Amino acid sequence: MKTNFRSLRIRLFLMYVLFALASMICLGCFSYWYLNQALASSRQQTMLAREKRVVEYVNSWPEKDASLTMAEKLRQLSVGIASTDIIQVYELDGTPIYSTPGNSAFKLPWPNRSCNERCYGLTQRDGHAIRTLNHVVEMDGHKVRLSLSGNIDEHFQILQAVRNSYLMFCPLLLLASLAGGYILSNRALEPVSRMTTEASRIGIQDLKRRLPVPNTGDELEVLALSWNELLSRLETAVARLTRFTGDLSHDLSTTITIMLTTAGLALSKRRSADEYRSALSKISVECEATSRLLEDLLAVARADIVHQKIEFKPVDFADLVREVCQQFDARARVKKQNLSCDIDAETWISGDVSLLRRMFAILLDNAIKYARESGAIRVSLAKSGGAIILKVTDSGIGIAAEALPKIFDRFYRVDESRNQDEGSSGLGLSIVKWVVEAHQFSIDVHSVPGQGSVFTVSMPLTKDVLGDDHRYAIASAR
Ligand code: ADP
Repeated sequence: MKTNFRSLRIRLFLMYVLFALASMICLGCFSYWYLNQALASSRQQTMLAREKRVVEYVNSWPEKDASLTMAEKLRQLSVGIASTDIIQVYELDGTPIYSTPGNSAFKLPWPNRSCNERCYGLTQRDGHAIRTLNHVVEMDGHKVRLSLSGNIDEHFQILQAVRNSYLMFCPLLLLASLAGGYILSNRALEPVSRMTTEASRIGIQDLKRRLPVPNTGDELEVLALSWNELLSRLETAVARLTRFTGDLSHDLSTTITIMLTTAGLALSKRRSADEYRSALSKISVECEATSRLLEDLLAVARADIVHQKIEFKPVDFADLVREVCQQFDARARVKKQNLSCDIDAETWISGDVSLLRRMFAILLDNAIKYARESGAIRVSLAKSGGAIILKVTDSGIGIAAEALPKIFDRFYRVDESRNQDEGSSGLGLSIVKWVVEAHQFSIDVHSVPGQGSVFTVSMPLTKDVLGDDHRYAIASAR
């Protein structure tokens, strides 16, 4: 199988190993440096103590025996110190005064500084590392150069031992981090693999299936839960769409059957003018219902075009409402309903006139459709604060509280069995919602089951919808 180096598993694994390697190298270097510093500092402390001892030893001598020279005093002191430690004393001009026996040939290089403050250094002698301290001190009443030096081979041996043991341990650590990285990346991504396998099995027919939710309490659990919620929403939407398509096909085929049968029956023999008129009006009613349904479908399809351009123009909304009210009056009278329209004289807003007409027509159509026979429907349009408020109130069947949040969803119908005869498609309010959002209006529903519903659309009053010329033209036309 071809290895995919961009896979998250391999990337995680490589990152883990790289991180472990980098940490190991950094830790090794730091430990080595730190140990080196600690050893050097401890050596400096020792040399400092020795310098004090030498100076005190020489300077406190006169009380015992004032006749001894500085060199003799130092010789006596040297008897008690380790053979690897060298004491050398010179005059300020470099003339030797004393050197630990056996080391007079070795002259510690004096730094290019006065060394009134202590000068620490590191040098080599016969392949051995030597740590040095040069300092101008006062001994026996005059200033001299004191050079202390000592072999520090054992420090390097310690450092080497530490480095060797680290290098031996490193491959083991590397192996451990490889294994750790492999196990970790596998374990971290195992739920993702399971979710991917399960997700690849989910098709449009299998929307009941859900992704396995890992009980880890981390982001993966949240991801799986979110995907499952998405699947639930998809399942509901697809079920609604399937039901709608079924209903739509059924409605259309019933309508066409009715039209064909009516036409066939009318044409089967010679008939009177009244009979033909009755057949044609039956066909016309069916055509009207079908055309309304097709218009709704077209509007929904139009709303789906994401960057649909809406033509905003000044609209006399009061005029529009008045006109639609008149159109629907006949329908309301058929159901013996009382339709009253209470409209402010002139209400201009900016919008797309055909969409605004459709929005109001749907609200009014629903009010008539869902109001009882002999019920009342009231339309009011008034200015309130900075907005125009359109209210469509009916004394109809109302909407249950649990259905209210869903009525603006596409294809949603509260009770699918009701109002089949009146061409219910579950599309109307979704179109209303789209128009409201496209115009940046807001819509609100208040409904009491059994008593009726109030749909309120609030439209912000744009300050100068009309230019002065336009206003003048309207005024003179009146
Ligand atoms: P429909 O074509 O079914 O009327 P809508 O999207 O216009 O589709 O409405 C969705 C559902 O909301 C309807 O099926 C109906 O149950 C409910 N509804 C809408 N308006 C009213 C109303 N004025 N009174 C009672 N129920 C309503």
